[in-house]
Amino acid sequence: MTNFLGYECSLCGQKYGPNEVEYVCPKHGDMGNLDVVLDYAAITRAASPGSIAASPDLSVWRYAPLLPVADPGFGGTPLHSAGWTPLYRADRLAAALGLKTLFVKDDGRNPTASFKDRASAIVVARARELGAAVIAAASTGNAGAALAGMGAAVGQPVVIFAPETAPQAKIAQLLMFGARVLLVKGNYDQAFDLTLQASPEFGWYCRNTGYNPFTVEGKKTAAFEMCEQLSQISNSKLQTPNLQSAIRNPQWTAPDRVFVSVGDGNIISGIHKGFKDLLALGWIDKMPKLMGVQAAGSAACANAWAAHTETITPVAADTLADSISVDLPRDGVRAVRAVRETGGEYVVVTDDEILAAMRDLARGAAVFAEPAGSTAYAGLMRAVHNGAVGADETIVVINTGNGLKDVKSAMKAAGEATVIEPTLEAVKAVLN
Ligand SMILES: *Cc1c(COP(=O)(O)O)cnc(C)c1O
Ligand SMILES: [Zn+2]
Repeated sequence: MTNFLGYECSLCGQKYGPNEVEYVCPKHGDMGNLDVVLDYAAITRAASPGSIAASPDLSVWRYAPLLPVADPGFGGTPLHSAGWTPLYRADRLAAALGLKTLFVKDDGRNPTASFKDRASAIVVARARELGAAVIAAASTGNAGAALAGMGAAVGQPVVIFAPETAPQAKIAQLLMFGARVLLVKGNYDQAFDLTLQASPEFGWYCRNTGYNPFTVEGKKTAAFEMCEQLSQISNSKLQTPNLQSAIRNPQWTAPDRVFVSVGDGNIISGIHKGFKDLLALGWIDKMPKLMGVQAAGSAACANAWAAHTETITPVAADTLADSISVDLPRDGVRAVRAVRETGGEYVVVTDDEILAAMRDLARGAAVFAEPAGSTAYAGLMRAVHNGAVGADETIVVINTGNGLKDVKSAMKAAGEATVIEPTLEAVKAVLN
């Protein structure tokens, strides 16, 4: 892509050309995450909020001018339907929390039912540009399911390393999409390190989160969508046809505050990158405050933020929210910065709060989230309780994964159904 200038190390600032490095800054082992550097002047010549609003493409690829990979084609396949997820109004939840404007961005509505499809779509496109034969990834489940699904969409072989304890539905997805599945007798962190060892050994292209610089470039599209979708909503309030007014109006609308659950910290880093891109392009006029939400049993980023440090100390992760159960966040430094630099906060919630948030989100907004998805909403509830949120703010909560991925946790949150004899008497007995 003509807009792809190269990389900049997030730790030491060293710049690299597009072909000088592949994954991380060589100076810091595995931890030197690289930011992709884009040519904003070239993007401005190629695209505008109006040109994108006019795009018929309802996927991450509508933002191709802002991505470091070219649209790989495969229109009409799941690779071309990652992203452009609904931004739902959640008026009843807002009222219950004393807020005016609350939206839920439902990324459970992606092709493989999690936010990870955004990253995997971009990484598959990158792998094809590089001519990679096989793509490998470590995953708690969703990143793997997404890579396996996007691989299946284009006939790209995929190898997934996941912890043996991953929820059944996620393992079923991996197997069903035809990935080579290696369940590791260990945790996600061990699967991660094993993938880093195996990939060079077998010549695989490695998608690992917080290692491959292109995952953030896919995840940032959620920030683009929030701003474009909010501008459509505010335009339609003025009774003008969405598209026409969006084409006339060069500005998109940034929310005031965004709640994101954090495991490795790559989603929040991606959302941050997306807003930074739009701010640099002048397509939005303010940086939203990013609220990172972690489970109390897996809070390495929140700990570092609270201690005013960028040194991430690993924890022994223990939470039912498996997608954010991480000892050492692989994108922790950027995840801490995303919150600090935007004036947001880290919020820590218990597993009980996560289960309660699952119920509230489903019953109050009809969004069925897996635990790591409802964690963001649990964070909003906690933040409102702490007085950290203004009542007039426009708030977006991201649901990162569909509840059907972890039915065991859903049943814990929802409770048991009543079983009855097939008689009217039995119905009466139960209802009276
Ligand atoms: C991966 C994932 C997260 C966390 O993303 P990180 O980049 O690891 O912080 C949150 N929710 C769900 C459902 C996920 O799959
Ligand atoms: Zn470096």
